[in-house]
Order: sequence, then C-alpha cells, then structure tokens
Amino acid sequence: MSAAMDIPRATVSREIRAEGIGIHSGETVRVRFLPAEPGTGIVFIHAARGRRSPIPARLEHVVETHFAVTLGNGEWKIMTIEHVLAVLSMRGVTDAYVESDAEEMPIFDGSARTLARLFDEASVATLPGSIAPYVVTTPVNVVEGDKFIVALPSPTARLSYIIAYTHPVIQTQYADYPLEPSVFFSEIAPARTYGFEKDVQMLIASGLAKGGSLDNALVIGETGYINEPRFPDECVRHKALDFIGDLALIGRPVVGHFIACKAGHTLDVAFGRTFLAAYGG
Ligand SMILES: [Zn+2]
Repeated sequence: MSAAMDIPRATVSREIRAEGIGIHSGETVRVRFLPAEPGTGIVFIHAARGRRSPIPARLEHVVETHFAVTLGNGEWKIMTIEHVLAVLSMRGVTDAYVESDAEEMPIFDGSARTLARLFDEASVATLPGSIAPYVVTTPVNVVEGDKFIVALPSPTARLSYIIAYTHPVIQTQYADYPLEPSVFFSEIAPARTYGFEKDVQMLIASGLAKGGSLDNALVIGETGYINEPRFPDECVRHKALDFIGDLALIGRPVVGHFIACKAGHTLDVAFGRTFLAAYGG
C-alpha cells in the first residue's frame, strides 16, 4: 500500500460545544468534542461517567440500527451517532472524545449542517502518525431482497446511491458523489432525514420520537412535501450522509466505489461487518 495514500491523524484543535434537542427524549442534549491522543479513535463518553466508561465508535459496539445507530457497552448507550461520525470522518478527525450529557446525540435540524458549520478547517489539528486506509481490491457486497450495498475497486472513494419508493412524491432518486470534503459539506451534509407523514405521527404518538417535529425532518405527505425540501433529491442525499457515517464505524477510511440501493442503517452495519471479515479488520 502506498504511503502517499495514508491519512494523517488529526483531532479537534480546541473544545467544541454544541447543544440541541434529542429526537428520542425531546430534551436538550449538550455535547463537547474534546482533543484526544493519536490512536484513540472516535470515542463517545458520558458526561457523568467520564472516560471510565468509553464507547469507541466501532462496529463491535453497535447495539441497535432501527431509525438510527445506537452504540453501547453494557453500562450505557449512545443513540443517533451517524451524522456526527460522517462530519468527523469527512473533516479528517481521526481521534477525539465526544462527550454527551444524555444517551443520544442532538438531532439538530435532522441534517449534519449544524455540525458541519462547527467543524471548519480551523477546528482540526494534525497529530503525529497516519492511518493506512483499506483499499478495495475485490468486490464486497451484502444483499437483502432488493436492497444491496457493493464496494468495487476504484482509485478514489466514490458513493452512488439509489432509493426507490412507489410513493408519488419521492419515487426514485439517484445520487453519485466523489467522497471528498468539499462535496460532502456542500451537497450532502445539509440534507435532512425524512419520513412519511403517517409514520412520523405514529412515532411521535408512540413516544419513540418525543423531539420529532417539522424542525428536524423533511416530512412527506400523500401529495407533496409538508415542509420545503432543501434539494429536489434531498432524501437520497440524506441516505448518502447516513452511509458515510455508518461506514466510519469500520474505524479506518476505505477507498472504493460504494454502490448502495435502498439500504439503511441495518444493511450499512451488515456491510461494514462483511467488509471487515473480508479485509481482516
Ligand atoms: Zn440520518
């Protein structure tokens, strides 16, 4: 593997704070991003437990993949981590503590835009050392019915994504992006999570999304969007955002062309595990 392809280690240059509503609890969640030593990786910590009970952002700590990714270590868990991981990975932050005072990350506006604004280039500090990325040399795929994710060899990282619904408002959307920071921050990070009006009402009624509102999701009604989309294909862009965050759970960058069709967190995590099994992680 070429040394030129290695990724420099980096952390946050200073403490970065954020707060917002937790989608699950509906209460305010306060988060601090803290510098870490090289080799730490991205590690979630709870404000009350500190570094005594860390949860590394790795596939082996995934405990739930419905609606969002939850990590756990038997003592506590942290929900909705995928947008945070997407921003950190695309900003090149390899080592940092992410401290929360709740068992979830803030949902913000349902996208990664708030975090993207916090993590500008000045918020990142280079550390000694580097990480050799995994390079896809033979295809890896996971298939579940009509859903799949495949990784193919490619000189640079790329993501193609297809979603297909029979719903008249969104139907089929296709996106194809080089996985580069400039593209991520302008085209992908602002895309909000989405839901169908009837499902959103059911989620809120059942108490599973106490913080859910039109402020943190693009909501799709029977004949049109309930709130204004940021992009005509905002839904598929958000799926790309989720995939990028979930891919970061592999723990090292991966260079390949990823093609995902109708995937989601469960298939993303299955793909990560299949990839690591094939590539010896
Ligand atoms: Zn998401």
